Amino acid sequence: LLELEQAQFAERNPRSAAAYRSADSLFGRVPMTWMNKTSAHFPLYLATARGAHVTDIDGHEYVDFSLGDTGSMAGHSPAAVTEAVRRRVEDLGGLAVMLPTEQAETAGAHLASRFGLPRWSFSLTATDANRWAIRLARAVTDRPKILVNSYCYHGSVDESLIVTEPGTEGVPRPGNVGAPVAVTETSRVAEFNDLEGLERELAHGDVAAVLMEPALTNIGIVLPEPGYLDGVRELTSRYGTLLIIDETHTFCAGPGGATRTWGLNPDIITIGKAIGGGIPAGAYGLSAELADRLLSREDLDLVDMGGVGGTLAGNALSIAAVCATLGEVLTDKAFDHMHALAERFEAGVAGVIAKNKLPWSVTRLGARVEYRFADPAPRTGTEAAAVHDQELDDYLHTYLANRGILMTPFHNMALMSPATTEQDVDLHTRHFAAAVAELVPT
Ligand code: PLP
Repeated sequence: LLELEQAQFAERNPRSAAAYRSADSLFGRVPMTWMNKTSAHFPLYLATARGAHVTDIDGHEYVDFSLGDTGSMAGHSPAAVTEAVRRRVEDLGGLAVMLPTEQAETAGAHLASRFGLPRWSFSLTATDANRWAIRLARAVTDRPKILVNSYCYHGSVDESLIVTEPGTEGVPRPGNVGAPVAVTETSRVAEFNDLEGLERELAHGDVAAVLMEPALTNIGIVLPEPGYLDGVRELTSRYGTLLIIDETHTFCAGPGGATRTWGLNPDIITIGKAIGGGIPAGAYGLSAELADRLLSREDLDLVDMGGVGGTLAGNALSIAAVCATLGEVLTDKAFDHMHALAERFEAGVAGVIAKNKLPWSVTRLGARVEYRFADPAPRTGTEAAAVHDQELDDYLHTYLANRGILMTPFHNMALMSPATTEQDVDLHTRHFAAAVAELVPT
């Protein structure tokens, strides 16, 4: 079935295939060719993107449930963001001036009121927000290590791009291209939802910060068990370790992310992607207590802090986009709409699973839904990796892409935007049911 779908994909998309072939050296290609893993070894090439829909250069239209892996959770080119960007570029100018705009305070105030922490600074990406949060954590605690969860992803951050050495408990080794070899000097690792394992690692007394997503989202969605996140907060406080919550993907949990939805109390929040409405923007926020601790350190130069800034961080264009996205697009009302659609999506998938008596499950995190080829849903990253079925994933992605639906090209996740409609969701349910019918002999 997968081969049939892949052949159909290749036949449907000759221009995309040719575009990919003509850029024939790896480094001549766009970096995000993730789709070629799942479909027919080439990605679709983008022509246009509006709202919840995209078109490719072969002239097909898609309902986009991937939404740039959350980067376009606000929908593609929402009018308020487009207008804010146009105004900045055309009327005002000033894209790389290295002078702040007054709007930066408004952008910071939006983040503070959404996520609770008072002090915000800007980066261009979530990766940078994480890297700078790590540096601040090391500076303020004078400890060397960062603890992350197995199968996490926080961007191309060396400390977090690690995998657990097989057969060991919590011994990390490098997991990325060109990583430093001495990751045991920089990192510790624990399983999500495992407080005992976390405590074992924190007890060494050398962990500056736990960097974690409040729900794993990069090995499919793994939700926290009751009491787990409170336990992490309690343990980190007890062992003098800071808690950095990466809300980049979990912002979909609600207008104030998982932090507000679940009442979390981190020392630092990092975020990127969706807050810029498609324009590169990232940010990190500090608690008042942590900001005071940093400010009281006379040995740290907080005005000219090399290592936690970037030339284009907080540029006027990003800031204008953040203000428009948070002020006008990803509003409370928009989240109500997105969550209602996600519930509809979840119910549609659950109905197909139940009807076919499949040992699959469906998980929802606010506006994002995932179906998984395991029931019950896994509770750790390692469990999630163990039940991952790449061939089934590829079949469903390619089947759906051939019928005008784009899912996140790994782990079958779908995200709703303010522009997504019930018709879009129902289209998915119909095609999902048909894809499953092909799999299940009658
Ligand atoms: N944090 C999380 C949780 C992510 O999933 C990602 C990317 O997928 C990042 C950070 C890095 O984002 P970016 O690549 O936009 O810097």
